Amino acid sequence: MKNTKTQLILASNNPHKVEEIQHYIGNKFEIITLDQMGFFGDIDEKGTTLSANSLIKAQYIYQLFGGNCIADDSGLEVFALNMEPGVYSARYAGSQRNHDDNMNFLLENLVEKQDRAAQFRTVITLILDGKVSQFEGVVKGNIIPEKIGSQGFGYDPIFMPEGYNCTFAEMTLYEKNKLSHRTRALQKMVDFFENM
Ligand code: IMP
Repeated sequence: MKNTKTQLILASNNPHKVEEIQHYIGNKFEIITLDQMGFFGDIDEKGTTLSANSLIKAQYIYQLFGGNCIADDSGLEVFALNMEPGVYSARYAGSQRNHDDNMNFLLENLVEKQDRAAQFRTVITLILDGKVSQFEGVVKGNIIPEKIGSQGFGYDPIFMPEGYNCTFAEMTLYEKNKLSHRTRALQKMVDFFENM
């Protein structure tokens, strides 16, 4: 495997995600998006865990195209809220709501809580030659009381990673990629490829 480029269909069209993954593993793998495959539908994410949703998406794409593929599912887990929003991160404040509404809802739910510890977690599912593998990445931090920063997406303005004095939304993509949950999961997948 070492000097060959591996084509992977990514079960997503989210430009932030494609950019983040491409930035990190671009030279080792060729990421093919669902747009490029001519697929513009939605995949029903009906799992109740990040791991289940990641697997559902990868299996759906694998059954459709039969090629090597990866899917990821990520979420913010807040310890004082029983690890919510977790798998429901994208629609925490309701299915029609945006990132800002989700952050506001989360901040309201945390008003009475002393413990503001949280983590972002990603589970990547790889299907390679029909064999399924999963890789998990976690970054721990805290939820701050108000939004700071304008980079990134989702809950970035209210998440301050452990050991840093700024939020994910104050970091460049390069800085965030060095420690993000997705990067850590990707690193495990890259290690897996290196050791094949
Ligand atoms: P996805 O599985 O990567 O689409 O992530 C689901 C949801 O989790 C996103 O819509 C965001 O609300 C949240 N999320 C995942 N990763 C991040 C991140 O790196 N920063 C901020 N929010 C994130």
